[in-house]
Amino acid sequence: MTKAQNIETAVAELKGSFGGELLRAGDAGYDEARKVHNGLIDKRPAVIARCKGTAGIVDAVKFGRQHGLEIAVRGGGHNVAGRSTVEGGLMIDLAPMKGIYVDAKARTVRAQGGVTWGEFNRETQVHGLATTGGVISTTGIAGLTLGGGLGWLMGKHGLAVDNLISAEVVTADGKVLTASAAENPDLFWALRGGGGNFGVVSSFEFRLHPVGPMITGGLVAHPFERAGEVLRYFRSLTKSLPDEMVVFGGLVHAPDGSGAKLAVIVAAHCGSLADGEAAMKPIKAFGPPVMDAIGPIPYSAINGMIDAGHPRGALNYWKANFLSELSDGAIDAAVSSFGKCTSPMGGILFEHFHGEACRKAVGDTAFPHRAPGFNFLGLGEWMDPGDTPRQIAWVRETYAAMKPFMSSGRYVNYLNEDEMQDGAASAYGPNQARLKEIKRKYDPDNLFHLNQNISPG
Ligand code: FAD
Repeated sequence: MTKAQNIETAVAELKGSFGGELLRAGDAGYDEARKVHNGLIDKRPAVIARCKGTAGIVDAVKFGRQHGLEIAVRGGGHNVAGRSTVEGGLMIDLAPMKGIYVDAKARTVRAQGGVTWGEFNRETQVHGLATTGGVISTTGIAGLTLGGGLGWLMGKHGLAVDNLISAEVVTADGKVLTASAAENPDLFWALRGGGGNFGVVSSFEFRLHPVGPMITGGLVAHPFERAGEVLRYFRSLTKSLPDEMVVFGGLVHAPDGSGAKLAVIVAAHCGSLADGEAAMKPIKAFGPPVMDAIGPIPYSAINGMIDAGHPRGALNYWKANFLSELSDGAIDAAVSSFGKCTSPMGGILFEHFHGEACRKAVGDTAFPHRAPGFNFLGLGEWMDPGDTPRQIAWVRETYAAMKPFMSSGRYVNYLNEDEMQDGAASAYGPNQARLKEIKRKYDPDNLFHLNQNISPG
């Protein structure tokens, strides 16, 4: 029998007990299931195992191992590098795993690996609770958390990893382990920033905090001609922020598709509405802006505010790096580069980190970037496949122009496909040696390598 026939027979056998769906090319639902958020990624797994629970993940891991299939693990499918799918291998797809159980009294939640931040916030906000998650509702809690997880609450409550209490993990040998401060603490440390290197996380337990339901936030927009001034003002603003407030500066296009270029400040304040209003006053007064959409807003709505700018299937190519500082030179380089951006979906972002996200030591979690500062993101996004070379070139040129202002650190969740090797070293930084040791213990054969890989060798 050929390998393909072997797999065909084995899939047919497993179907009886698997519970979820096992999809092969030609099956109904295969083409939809193989798609990920980034339309630039077009891979065809030999098998897609759509798991309904932990037992299905165990079966799938054993199946992949037994048949020598490369394994990709899909949570929300948002990874821009397309690491959650695989050509000719096995995609372990957690998308059907949507369980979310809030313990409002204990202020904790357990959520399964296929949950997105929109789904998560909907359940926790019923109780007026939340934890730090992504700023787009369709991003998966799994990949985002395993890489660090930045969002509107990070100034007050730290990163997503800082709120993780425990995780249930299916390891490379098919065992089901709990990782927490008390059980398998080395694995727990590694999961908090080390990505999908150590196993498949079937569920996450997070600490929750009282948030909203109404908070203060939104964005102000200024004409591109004033971009330099706006980014300098943004820089000065970040010098004295309360923990409750997180602010990003950006160069983006108007959402009406007109192609008009704008300089924006996006902000969220998770404290009382009165404190939020006072904190936002100077931002609303500066300029004044041509558009002011800052005010009281449901916490769950601010996490969907820019969803429309990131539709599923749009083509994406990103390059990002932390900056040593947001100097005048960096601002001028960004403004000049954005002037050359031809896609009405492309943009440049400066994500500001401060407060609780920066109070941990570098070695407290595997996520090492704990200094206050800015994460620069050159975000290439477009719809026409014919435009791909031009848009990728724009991102690369923008990144090169920003290079003199960059520090050595990179955010693992923003690495793209051609940066997986070199980028991982700057993403894991001083924690890489310990991550390697833990990788050797839990996945010595590097079964889980379709990620920002930590080689056990
Ligand atoms: P997937 O593509 O499913 O997975 C990403 C990686 O994690 C893969 O290597 C995969 O194998 C692994 N993985 C996924 N699930 C599991 C699991 N259960 N167990 C083990 N490994 C797993 N990041 C932020 O920090 N904050 C943001 O606000 C933010 N906004 C974003 C907005 C958009 C539009 C996009 C495209 C990305 C954004 N990101 C953000 C980046 C995001 O954190 C990463 O893309 C992350 O990988 C997404 O997680 P996912 O589960 O959706 O991804």
